[in-house]
Amino acid sequence: MDKRKILITSALPYANGSIHLGHLVEYIQTDIWARFQKMRFPMEEGHEIYYVCADDTHGTPIMLRAEKEGITPEALIKRVHQEHHRDFEGFHIKFDNYYTTHSSETRQYSEDIYIKLKTADPSLITTHSVEQFYDPVKNIFLPDRFIKGECPKCGAKDQYGDNCEVCGATYAPTDLKEPYSAVSSAVLVKKSSEHFFFKLSDNRCVNFLRQWTLEGHHLQVEAANKMREWLGKAEQNNLSDWDISRDAPYFGFEIPDAPGKYFYVWLDAPIGYMGSFQNLCDKRGINFTDFWKKDSTAKLYHFIGKDILYFHALFWPAMLENAGYRTPTKIFAHGFLTINGEKMSKSRGTFITAENYLKLGLNPEWLRYYYAAKLNGTMEDIDLNLEDFIARVNSDLVGKYVNIASRAAGFLVRYFDSQLFNTLNLHMLDPLSELLENEEVICNHMKNRRYSLAVTAIMALTDKVNEYWDKQKPWEKAKLINDKQTSDELHLVSSITIECFRILTIFLKPILPKLAQKAESFLNVEPLQWKDLQKTLSHKHQIKAYEHLMTRIDRKKIDAMIDASK
Ligand SMILES: [Zn+2]
Repeated sequence: MDKRKILITSALPYANGSIHLGHLVEYIQTDIWARFQKMRFPMEEGHEIYYVCADDTHGTPIMLRAEKEGITPEALIKRVHQEHHRDFEGFHIKFDNYYTTHSSETRQYSEDIYIKLKTADPSLITTHSVEQFYDPVKNIFLPDRFIKGECPKCGAKDQYGDNCEVCGATYAPTDLKEPYSAVSSAVLVKKSSEHFFFKLSDNRCVNFLRQWTLEGHHLQVEAANKMREWLGKAEQNNLSDWDISRDAPYFGFEIPDAPGKYFYVWLDAPIGYMGSFQNLCDKRGINFTDFWKKDSTAKLYHFIGKDILYFHALFWPAMLENAGYRTPTKIFAHGFLTINGEKMSKSRGTFITAENYLKLGLNPEWLRYYYAAKLNGTMEDIDLNLEDFIARVNSDLVGKYVNIASRAAGFLVRYFDSQLFNTLNLHMLDPLSELLENEEVICNHMKNRRYSLAVTAIMALTDKVNEYWDKQKPWEKAKLINDKQTSDELHLVSSITIECFRILTIFLKPILPKLAQKAESFLNVEPLQWKDLQKTLSHKHQIKAYEHLMTRIDRKKIDAMIDASK
């Protein structure tokens, strides 16, 4: 079998805020996919699958936040990095590397890509003067979100630089009346300065992107449609050049040979994928070039939110292509999270941070499972309905899956020295055979990120196993335990059921890695891989006594979490 080389990324969280349940939609779904791939193609067999990410650390908001806290930007991003790292670990997100864009590696690739674009013939970097709002008190150009003023449409006061919360109008910050700085409250002045642009409107970019989009397989259908909209018809050119520079003072990388000019944070953010991977390569002796050279056969998959599709599907591939690197294999965009059908909100207590969730003793795997049960591989939003969350986790995981182990283990431990019956040919018997027949279907759903369908299929199988158990009435067989034939039957039913539990554990392991670990310990087996579906536990294999694998969700904990989030 050919050896897999796969690099998987999640979008880089910004280093000025906490990880919340909305962010986790992305990290959990990427982690499930990376774990699934690694289970199927283990490193020990020569496959190379890596999952990397980093904090996105540059830009004016980081600079201003650090200033407000009276610390350096470096100190701020260091602290936030530790918090993010802690939260991801708490939710069992298993990166191969979690790095920072404020690194020598990211600087190196940012400069390298910039210089290659600049020295292209003719150059793909151009400069021209841009007029922007300037805060004369802070002496900085302000990003849109730090500009406030009167809405040009309805006249509402104190509206942000890009849209009006009162009438919903969208506009450019320069359209605002009476603009002022949200940082210093100073009246803003317009000021010109020279900016650097990546010539996205150049035919080399437009033609490449047109073809890249047409090839189809790089993007989901909805994303490809969006791209066609952005690119316009064949004879048109709807793309404008991309402003990639910001003036000092700015927290970021200075542009080579351009003192006082810095790369805009969105230029180096995706390059942070390369920076993080280079850092991993140096630590583990992996060949970076194998993954990033132009004709690389390695796969590169980016998981992102639909709001940053523009950066990942236009700028990023066009930059890579023209700087002589490979382009992404696929971009998987997902929707946003709503809670109880509405946007997350501080006043409703649904703006829930990862930290609060964990602190109040909620099990991270409850959320991993629930998200998996909702994710379907499209750009649709998903809803965390808290009533449904409680009902579903308690019924599926505790009531159905975990229950299988506790039921069967009891008899094995009590009557059969915890040993399994002669397991040869067990896989031919129902319901085990049916579980195994479903492997391909489940595998395909997981591969295509339709976790919700995989979960539905797996839960239908747990129902089958529980029905089988009930139908066999093992508790009645136990009453006749001194009869050899009945005793053998009880032993067989219990052993088949334990085998079923093992198979279901393999199916669920990418979603529930810690629960699977506990199940492995109970089953007394090595860490389960996908190929273990083909094996059976040996005759007389001894399991351990059953210990609680998962508790039910207590309503009170959810209420406490909502209260703590208000
Ligand atoms: Zn308005």
